[in-house]
Amino acid sequence: MNELAGHDGAHDGFETLAIHAGQAPDAETGAVVVPLHLTSTYAQDGVGGLRGGYEYSRSGNPTRTALETCLAAIEHGARGFAFASGLAAEDTLLRAICSPGDHVVIPGDAYGGTYRLFAQVLERWGLQYTAVQQQDLDAVRGAIRDRTKIVWCETPTNPLLGIVDIGAVASIAHAADAILVVDNTFASPYLQRPLALGADVVMHSSTKYLGGHSDVVGGALITRDELLAEPIAFHHNAMGAVAGPFDSWLVLRGIKTLGVRMDRHCDNAERVAAMLRRHDRVSEVYYPDTHPVAAKQMHRYGGMVSFRLHGGEANALDVCGRTRLFTLAESLGGVESLIEHPARMTHASVAGSPLEVPGDLVRLSVGIETGADLLADLEQALGS
Ligand SMILES: *Cc1c(COP(=O)(O)O)cnc(C)c1O
Repeated sequence: MNELAGHDGAHDGFETLAIHAGQAPDAETGAVVVPLHLTSTYAQDGVGGLRGGYEYSRSGNPTRTALETCLAAIEHGARGFAFASGLAAEDTLLRAICSPGDHVVIPGDAYGGTYRLFAQVLERWGLQYTAVQQQDLDAVRGAIRDRTKIVWCETPTNPLLGIVDIGAVASIAHAADAILVVDNTFASPYLQRPLALGADVVMHSSTKYLGGHSDVVGGALITRDELLAEPIAFHHNAMGAVAGPFDSWLVLRGIKTLGVRMDRHCDNAERVAAMLRRHDRVSEVYYPDTHPVAAKQMHRYGGMVSFRLHGGEANALDVCGRTRLFTLAESLGGVESLIEHPARMTHASVAGSPLEVPGDLVRLSVGIETGADLLADLEQALGS
């Protein structure tokens, strides 16, 4: 067990922070839930006389501030920033830290949209990148260049659930005067705290587990210290890809139940992985519960399970078309179970690149429905 585990399900008072950080009852009305401040601007008492420190909602909004305070608390960071999407958070971070000509080491197995941002958007801006399998620490070391500013890491990876040793990669990055950024979307701060393991910035697609109900698109950055927060705060406002007040409110509402949802996601995913491992149509199951590094840095192993089928792509497509409870859809991390075919759906943008994924692969986002119903649905879809 690691330092995060073993406190009767809770750890470090996580649920208390999730429910209360940044969310004191409203000073004026006593409202228990953070008010939804749908306003673009704020009255001033004389020029420059700001009542609550707010002047314009791109620069700051009280509902967004509540979320940003909560994000910093649950990741144990100095500052949190809420964005319009995960990719908006990534773009802002990369332009805040890097200049044209700089270099980033990226994962050899990453969210397809992250790869597309590097390959088709930021490369034109002059940002260089090298994709390496970061499980191989020598490969990470070998990919570092003079102008490497960031080692970008995703763990567990999407869609193959690979595990990268965050502490070890942080040491390599810091030895080269680079920072380590960890995309913590799959694990969520309930299961993994990258900043405590040596990372400098944590990134989230809050569209996924933080929001948790498939009703909002959002992103987040959390920094380890105030120094790194400065350029991000400037670019957050100067580039303007901020989270709106209602989106912030929805993500904040989702975070309140993150701990209890993640425990149920894990319970169900463990059962699904065990069933798939026994199934004779399944050639390989990807779930990190047996990985020694995952045991060291994660509290439990999350709700994502991928698997490959004997007989190639046609069989994977067939199973994706047969489930009734698992909905065929992109995205992940919501209360409802989803199934998808990465090669043709979420990862179609990496076809032909070093990040291409196998055609016989199926990815599940295991939801929090009754576990037995999920197993029965997969069994009928596989035709056991
Ligand atoms: C979805 C996702 C993103 C991108 O986030 P959006 O909110 O869709 O912009 C980045 N990383 C991972 C791991 C994701 O799953």
